[in-house]
Amino acid sequence: MPRLSEVIAALDTLWPPGHAEEWDAVGTVCGDPDRTVSRVLFAVDPVQEIAEEAVRLGADLLVTHHPLYLRGTTTVFAGTFKGRVVHTLIKNGVALYVAHTNADRADPGVSDALAGALSLRVTGPLVPDPTDQHGRRGLGRLCAVEPALSVRELAALAADRLPGTAQGIRVAGDPDALVRTVAVSGGSGDSLFDDVRAAGVDAFLTADLRHHPVSEAREQGPPALLDAAHWATEWPWCQLAAAQLDQVSERHGWGLRSHVSATVTDPWTAHAAQAPARPAQTVPVPGAAVAAAASDDASGAPN
Ligand SMILES: [Zn+2]
Repeated sequence: MPRLSEVIAALDTLWPPGHAEEWDAVGTVCGDPDRTVSRVLFAVDPVQEIAEEAVRLGADLLVTHHPLYLRGTTTVFAGTFKGRVVHTLIKNGVALYVAHTNADRADPGVSDALAGALSLRVTGPLVPDPTDQHGRRGLGRLCAVEPALSVRELAALAADRLPGTAQGIRVAGDPDALVRTVAVSGGSGDSLFDDVRAAGVDAFLTADLRHHPVSEAREQGPPALLDAAHWATEWPWCQLAAAQLDQVSERHGWGLRSHVSATVTDPWTAHAAQAPARPAQTVPVPGAAVAAAASDDASGAPN
């Protein structure tokens, strides 16, 4: 069985920490480099529920996409929710390793896994990494949709293939427009709108899209925008990452057992569906009926 330090070296090769954004916090969060590793759990979020799942599973290592501490800390007191995660992991001999924006930019990376989940053919990165001579690493992926689908069909495909969340898939744009090319980016993608427009694709699938960026993008016309739950767009990477570590394990004869958490850690937990695009004036507003009646009475009268 490999020691943690050997497994970390393998993970650092798959997702070099130097490829992470400057603001990011990737790599090993806790763990004893000399302890042996036999079981590994992959998950998106290092939350308490996942830490407890790792303990129940008997995992020696938890690999997550999101950092536990992104902005630094001065305490791991178990009275804080993040400190409690640290205590749960250390008490039970579970190491924590994070591959975040370095996994986003990797080849294959988070957006390759997202494209793969939808059976889209990746043609290249949306924002190529200039240090990659092969032009394969970078943020987001450009994909061919074969055969072409309508925006509505692409949204239905995403809803079917991505793990279920309360949010589902939101769409901005003409649902009947034909999609031959699509950009995908796991996680929050609204900073990539300019790159998506420059790429000339028919649609963009990502997460965490906000009112103003979407409103402004819509005013400029296509592409259609598809917004899935952040967690759902990144979860396929856990399967990809586990398969990658399995290959390393086989090469070295480590006999690691990799698991992918099926626990939904998307923070949104419920959704009340509405009829789409209901005119705002049909929403009952206290006092509005009286005001409308008064306005009718006054119609035609000079004021
Ligand atoms: Zn994310």
